[in-house]
Amino acid sequence: MPVSKAPYTRSYAHTKSRGSNSMVDCGYCGKKVPRYKTFIKTKGFRINDPTLLQQIDTRFLHFGHEKMYVCPKCARHHKIVQPGKTVRKKHLK
Ligand SMILES: [Zn+2]
Repeated sequence: MPVSKAPYTRSYAHTKSRGSNSMVDCGYCGKKVPRYKTFIKTKGFRINDPTLLQQIDTRFLHFGHEKMYVCPKCARHHKIVQPGKTVRKKHLK
C-alpha cells in the first residue's frame, strides 16, 4: 500500500477508482470479478490462412476483436492459464 506523504493532498490523476472496486464480468460465467484478478482474452475473428492474410488489409483484422475478461477459475477451466505456470500475457493476445 502506498504511504500518503502529504496530508490532504489527493491525486486521482491516473484512475478514478483505485482498482479495488473496478469490477468486470467474467466472459464465461458472468460472475463479477475484480479486474486485476482477471485475464484478458481477445475473442472473435481469427484468420489462419496465410494466403488470405496477404490479400486482406491487416487493418480489417482488428475489426471484430473483443476484449473479454476471464476470472481465474474460468481461465483455468478453459486452459487460458495453468496453475503453477507463469502467465505469459503476450500469448493471450
Ligand atoms: Zn468465470
